Amino acid sequence: MVTTHEQIEQNLRSVRNRIAAAARRAGRSADAVTLVAVTKYAKADVVRTLVDLGVRDLGESRPQQLGERAALIDQSVRWHLIGSLQRNKARRTLSVVEMIHSANSVRLLRHLDYLAQELEIRPRVLLEVNLSGEATKHGFDPVALTSEWDGILSLKHLSLEGLMTMGAWEKDPERTRPTFAGLRELRDHLRERSPADVPLEHLSIGMSNDFEIAIEEGATFVRIGSALFEGR
Ligand SMILES: *Cc1c(COP(=O)(O)O)cnc(C)c1O
Repeated sequence: MVTTHEQIEQNLRSVRNRIAAAARRAGRSADAVTLVAVTKYAKADVVRTLVDLGVRDLGESRPQQLGERAALIDQSVRWHLIGSLQRNKARRTLSVVEMIHSANSVRLLRHLDYLAQELEIRPRVLLEVNLSGEATKHGFDPVALTSEWDGILSLKHLSLEGLMTMGAWEKDPERTRPTFAGLRELRDHLRERSPADVPLEHLSIGMSNDFEIAIEEGATFVRIGSALFEGR
């Protein structure tokens, strides 16, 4: 991993250009896609470099590390939790995150709803879906999510904003397209069953290897780590 300011700046410019090009190909505005810089493997000084370069949305997969970094880094940063949340870390995490991308069980959602009521907040939540069927991946089974949907909608203290998934790693990123399209179709289906105040506008899809495909398939958040931090 390289850590020079110039390298990070160059990587960031390249990622932003690729985001813009993919959005253009899809007839979408680049402003409709938020880059979440995933900092889980980066050192704190490298994270600062990104913030100095104007990145405002940062993602961490571990609540512990997210909390520690949120305390170190400037207040204007919006933190996104993209990995599993244990219920005993939920209260503290809710006090620092902009959005949880990785709500992956009804049990967790109920707990978040309970905390939100108590804290008088309305957390922004995406539901993680496991569409690749890989046992190592977290997330709702799509059929189970569909059957639980009415119950999830009854959790009135959560702002349910959309879905998240991880594509299986593919040498040819084109092969992740059906997974991303499948998530969008699932979102469209759930939207039809939801009241107007649950628009499910967000799709958190796409990582370093496949974010351009994800943008073509409707990503509103791309979660990018290695493409920002690695050298060539
Ligand atoms: C690590 C991670 C990413 C970023 O992965 P890269 O391939 O480094 O871009 C995105 N999403 C999740 C959920 C992750 O855990």
